[in-house]
Amino acid sequence: MAAQVTATKNNDMEKCYENYILIDVGANLTNKKYNRDLDSVIQRAKDSGVQKIMVTGTSVKGSKEALRLSRIYPDTLYSTAGIHPHDAKSYTDESWEELRRLAENPECVAIGECGLDYNRNFSEPEDQRTVFRKHLELAIELNKPVFVHERDAHDDLIEILDQYKEKLPPVLVHCFTGSSENALAYLEKGFYIGLTGYLCKDKSDTGVRKLLEDGSIPLERLVVETDAPFMYPNTRASKLPLHVKDGLTERSMTFLHRYCTFQRNEPCSLPAIVEMIAAFMKKKPEEVALATSFNAMKLFGLS
Ligand SMILES: [Zn+2]
Repeated sequence: MAAQVTATKNNDMEKCYENYILIDVGANLTNKKYNRDLDSVIQRAKDSGVQKIMVTGTSVKGSKEALRLSRIYPDTLYSTAGIHPHDAKSYTDESWEELRRLAENPECVAIGECGLDYNRNFSEPEDQRTVFRKHLELAIELNKPVFVHERDAHDDLIEILDQYKEKLPPVLVHCFTGSSENALAYLEKGFYIGLTGYLCKDKSDTGVRKLLEDGSIPLERLVVETDAPFMYPNTRASKLPLHVKDGLTERSMTFLHRYCTFQRNEPCSLPAIVEMIAAFMKKKPEEVALATSFNAMKLFGLS
């Protein structure tokens, strides 16, 4: 009996040591793909080591839903409140008042997702810029960090952020997919960079991978996110260097391959992403996990 108790204890200890402690700073858990089994998705995230998740708000309705989820899973889920640049055209003064009320809640830890996306221009660039400015003003007023989305709009984004630079709270450029030159400009401004499974897709010689290999992103400015259900980290991508594939543990691969697909990524893929980042940076995954979690706590003012 005593031996059994010891064995169980050792197993628990092992489990604890095997796990990283991670924070997923961006997951779209209000997506209807999670309607049926959100409980299991969150439990799996926790089992994999993801202790806290920021649920991204991308519209007024979505931000309301994100806030609702953060109340069902207190201290695990947190929300953001914002209007995605794709949806800038949906802005009305009335809906903005509702967004402001959502953003005032303590469970809402950031303003966004907001920003500029000239890649697809689902909303007119002029509308995108106007709505982005509204977000920055709200972030300053409420003193909450800004969760920024940018695609093919680096120069304009910087120009607008510069107009508020004296008063700006911390800025996170989420799901960074740009060039190393763009990243360096963001870092120069003191912004945080959020990395996702996009790492597996990047085939350029001047993008995210190069930044990590060069050590250009300081650990203290890095946070990690899944952007689930999007950005599935395809660890089987042919262009992924062998030493990066070798850095993936059986444990993280089990979560990834058992529960995540191209159609529906989950927060439990975060350990795999962290292991790849660590391999590119030639650091230990534990070190990347610890640093990124610390950064997320600091950035979003969590205790
Ligand atoms: Zn985004």
